[in-house]
This record gives sequence, C-alpha cells and structure tokens, in this order.
Amino acid sequence: MLERSPGARMLRRLLVNPVATLVLAFGLVIDAESQPRSTLVGSMFSSPKCRCGMAQPTGVAGFAPDGEMVLMRPDEESWDAATRAMAEAPERTVTLWAIGGRYGEGLWAPVTDTKSVQIHAEAGSEVSSEGVARARAEYARTLAERWDWLTPADLATLGARNIRETRVLWGGVAHSAAACAVVAAFVWSLGWVPATVRRLKETPAVRRRRAGLCGACGYNLTGLAGSRCPECGAEQDYSVASSSGGGSEV
Ligand SMILES: [Zn+2]
Repeated sequence: MLERSPGARMLRRLLVNPVATLVLAFGLVIDAESQPRSTLVGSMFSSPKCRCGMAQPTGVAGFAPDGEMVLMRPDEESWDAATRAMAEAPERTVTLWAIGGRYGEGLWAPVTDTKSVQIHAEAGSEVSSEGVARARAEYARTLAERWDWLTPADLATLGARNIRETRVLWGGVAHSAAACAVVAAFVWSLGWVPATVRRLKETPAVRRRRAGLCGACGYNLTGLAGSRCPECGAEQDYSVASSSGGGSEV
C-alpha cells in the first residue's frame, strides 16, 4: 500500500465516506437542475429555466401608394391595412418572417452565448433595396417586443443584414471546470462502497477472525501465539482474515 502524507490521509477521510458522497451528489443535482435546457446536463434534468427558443412571427410590410409603410402587428387594424396593401399592390409589399433566438450552449454550464436572428424578406418587384431595408428595420423593432435581448445596435444591424454572434462565457467555462472537478470528487468519494460490500459479504467466521476472535467459537485470541484456538482447538485461517483486513477503515 502507498505511503500517504497526513494531508492526503485527512483528505481521504473527509472525502471517502457516505456523507461526502451524499453531499456531493446533492450539490451536483441542484447545480445541474439550475442549468438551461440548451446544455447537455441541463437537458437531462429538464430545467424549466430556458431562455432559448425560436419564434417565427410573420410580418408584411405594405407600402401604400404614397410610400407610407404599414406593418402587420398583433392588432386588427394593422392587419387590415397590411392585407389591403398586399391585395392592392403586391409589387409594393415586402413579406417578412424571422427565425431566431438567444441561447447558451455547453456540456454543463453554458460556455457560449449565441444570438441569432435571420430575417427573410420577399420583396415585390417595385420595392427598392432601400424599401427592403426600411421594412427589415421596422420589422426588427416588432421582433424586439418579443425578444428583449435585442439591443438598439442589433436593430440597426438587422436593417441591413442578419445577425449571428457567438461569444465565449468565461464564467461558464470556470463553472463547467468546477463541476467536472466535483464529479471527479464524487466518483472518488465512492471508495467506501467496495469496502462496505466486501464487509457485508463476509461470513461470520471471517468477521470474528478480523476482530481477533476464533473463527469457529469466538474465543478471544488476542495476544495468543500459534494458529490453534485453545478453547475449541480449531485451526485459524489467517489468509482469509488478512486479505479482507487489508481494506481501509471506514
Ligand atoms: Zn475456538
């Protein structure tokens, strides 16, 4: 057996026991449960705290003959106006829809934060590129009502192009690394299991032998020389006792 320093022995005593196993498992479950569904661990614990998700609100930008733009909004009035513009002059309307979301991805905690908005615009033949940009920008503002993570800068960008940005979350990287360390500690803490199983499987004779008693009758053999019990005369099987007695104390 390896020789251990006092520090390592103390750490082992602190870690390798059922209480430590329970505490570590509890901590891991609580932490995993708090992670968003977009992470691998969070998805296993089906956390409800998901900020991700896609949505596809549709909008139609209709340009009235005077160049004024109407856009479908959740209210009936704008729907009527947009539908009318589309029916009267499809060549002057832009049909828009978007798919997007903001989500963190990672194995344990999110390590990346991705912001994605793809606006698809189908423009009629008479709509200028400037008109498409206006329609996109206006439509982006209606998206912001739903997606509160869109910044004013994002809205300005969306007038011209789609957004897909991913940044690294260093806090999440540290969190994931810490979680991996705790998982390793949890696995290590299970060291008491094989020793306990071995002990539970011991026959009464072996258990008596380990306690320094005669395996056959239970007579205390402490301090006695020889391998024969003076009480019942049974030969003591030391190999059994020493092999299981070599395990660590719990
Ligand atoms: Zn005996």
